[in-house]
Amino acid sequence: MSIEKLKNIIEESNNIVFFGGAGVSTESNIPDFRSASGLYTTENNLKYPPEMMLSHSFFVSHTKDFYDFYKTKMIYKDAKPNDAHIALAELERRGKLKAVITQNIDGLHQMAGSENVLELHGSVYRNYCTECNKYFALDYIMKSDSVPTCDQCGGIVKPDVVLYEESLDMNVLNRALKYIHDADVLIIGGTSLTVYPAANLVQYYNGNKLILINKSQTQYDSRAALTFNESIGKVLKQVI
Ligand code: ZN
Repeated sequence: MSIEKLKNIIEESNNIVFFGGAGVSTESNIPDFRSASGLYTTENNLKYPPEMMLSHSFFVSHTKDFYDFYKTKMIYKDAKPNDAHIALAELERRGKLKAVITQNIDGLHQMAGSENVLELHGSVYRNYCTECNKYFALDYIMKSDSVPTCDQCGGIVKPDVVLYEESLDMNVLNRALKYIHDADVLIIGGTSLTVYPAANLVQYYNGNKLILINKSQTQYDSRAALTFNESIGKVLKQVI
């Protein structure tokens, strides 16, 4: 049975890397705002399309509208880590998992206890003044009336989240590629592997123990040692 095979692969390795997409967070009831079932298609009463509101140029030109949308649709402060987050944190504690690489910005891996988390798209928990670079916690953003401004210099505070038109942090990306390149086992979950950078990241893996866990099939299924087309929380819960 596949689960038994996965247990054996994990048992024999101490160099596992996990790469996760939005599907990891949807099981904590955070919508996948880039997928067909996500926010983009469910919200029809918005003033602007979400992909426009989450762009760098919109942040600059319509900062208040950006924050109205961001605070109400992008922040899920009550979300809790699910079985996938918990299992990955446990594998790291056991010395088996080297890194979690995520496209999610919700901080749930850290909340579950993971320590080495590479956030390709940043985190809502970090915010910086665009003028003096002072750090602000999420609460500061949420408690501001409309546009959060720096209490030191008055500059506009921006979430450390990669918006459309912005490039990924090359330092984080390069570290992620190194972990994937050096990994013995690569577990990919909650992503259909169709969009950048996910599709490119897979190419850096040289091993023969690629594990894919995604509710729908992906173009890499045939290359994987094991494929699970089901809930990632359900699968990972069974291996720890
Ligand atoms: Zn400032």
